[in-house]
Amino acid sequence: MLDLVLHGGIVLTQATPPVAEAIGVRNGRIACVGSTADVLGAAAAATARIDLGGRTAVPGLNDAHAHIWKIGHLLTGMLDLRRAASLDEVASGVRDFSARLPPGAWLQGRGYNEAALKEQRPPTRADLDLAEPTRPVVLTRTCGHMYAVNSAALTQAGIGSATAAPAGGVIDRDERGEPTGILRETAMGLITTVMPPPTSHDYELMIEAALRHQLSLGITSSADCGVSPILLQVYRAVDEKGGLPSRINVMPFRRIDGVPQPVPFPEQHVSDMLRVDTVKFLADGGLSGATAALSVPYRHAAGHGVLRFGHAELRELCEEAHRAGWRIATHAIGDVAIDQVLDIYESLGAHPRGLAHRIEHFGLPDAAQLSRAARLRLIAAPQSVFIHSLGRNFRACLPDEFLPRTYPIRAMLDAGIRVALSSDAPVVEDDNPLVGMAAAITRMDSTGHLIAPAQAITAREALYAYTMGGAIATGDETNRGSLEAGKWADIAVLSDNPLAIAVDRLPAVRVDMTFVGGRLVFER
Ligand SMILES: [Zn+2]
Repeated sequence: MLDLVLHGGIVLTQATPPVAEAIGVRNGRIACVGSTADVLGAAAAATARIDLGGRTAVPGLNDAHAHIWKIGHLLTGMLDLRRAASLDEVASGVRDFSARLPPGAWLQGRGYNEAALKEQRPPTRADLDLAEPTRPVVLTRTCGHMYAVNSAALTQAGIGSATAAPAGGVIDRDERGEPTGILRETAMGLITTVMPPPTSHDYELMIEAALRHQLSLGITSSADCGVSPILLQVYRAVDEKGGLPSRINVMPFRRIDGVPQPVPFPEQHVSDMLRVDTVKFLADGGLSGATAALSVPYRHAAGHGVLRFGHAELRELCEEAHRAGWRIATHAIGDVAIDQVLDIYESLGAHPRGLAHRIEHFGLPDAAQLSRAARLRLIAAPQSVFIHSLGRNFRACLPDEFLPRTYPIRAMLDAGIRVALSSDAPVVEDDNPLVGMAAAITRMDSTGHLIAPAQAITAREALYAYTMGGAIATGDETNRGSLEAGKWADIAVLSDNPLAIAVDRLPAVRVDMTFVGGRLVFER
């Protein structure tokens, strides 16, 4: 017997035929897809029925690269600075937030972006000391690759003028050699290792808040790209008690900043809701923070960015993971980092389980790198929404010759690379997949400038990359990514057909209902 029928809508199946009217669900999976008459004809008296009233059902959306616990941290206990427009606003945010914290607690914030601040510079320790002289303050830049901290935090971490930066990191200093409070890449580990870590209970609340948020955006499957052993344990425990409302691909780190030894491999684990079979590495940093490793100097900052690993070390870590049967997902944005990762992936040979490795972000590949990635059957996980949210940073920081190849999603698809679109949330404020789709189609940033317009893709391609593309990147393509009989009944019901409306209306499309495994888990 069918448990549920959705009928009277436009069902975008991403299968053949591409459009239907109704879906029948049994035991959490899709039993049939077809016309309203046929599917209702198969329903029994006790079958629940939902009339879509002409609305559009799409496969549950997939955010292939996100940081779930960090989304949740912002929602449950962190100062959110993603809308701050001046250093004054950062300072008043710190003051107000501090007033609500118990004495001695660290104040953590996230999301400042100096390009969005009136002063066009990040907060320094001096700015932060004025706002909060006593408790340690740690503000993570929007990209997640840089901290701005106050003197109390530097003191607790023992960072002074004589402190050397760890390999792959930078401690910014003033003309007297004193730390300015800005710590980049692996130097962030000096702080992270002394900051009180969240408890398991904190993590549970973060996961819960983040997944509820994603379900309101129609996201039924997502990823936590880079987790510590304790967070992985929390995921396993929550999965064990049936507490995950959506499907998560959790990627453990093997290297944690500030910890000298690699983290041992955890046990691989694949259940319906939780997948642990991908390890995450970071080859470089971010563009707007000038830590992505480029072959040419940045326009707005000194230097070419940072490679976080020596070639031999990253190769050895990747080879261990590859041989042990893990999928590897490596963050690589700059062309130098992309070369490093392509060289290493190529040297690994055939995967023992036949898995394809991933390049996260894949921000600035040239034509030769794209064809190499295609030849190696790699999967790309770029963020079209960066065009929207970080376009002004890209225009300010990249040399002219790099702009036309910034997040070149058209060229990735044309080269034959499988693409999974994603948000990298909370790096950007808006992780709505429909905003990411619109940016992939228009290539327009939030100030109306076009970034590499020749790299535009179609609405159909964007929807595919947010659904089937993500399923492929996770190894779940037999279970999700399209609406066809046998797959999980993971469905988002949208107010409008995203393939039929004008692209400027896409960001305003509402998610009215979200189903995971045939269960209604969000309703507007
Ligand atoms: Zn990320």
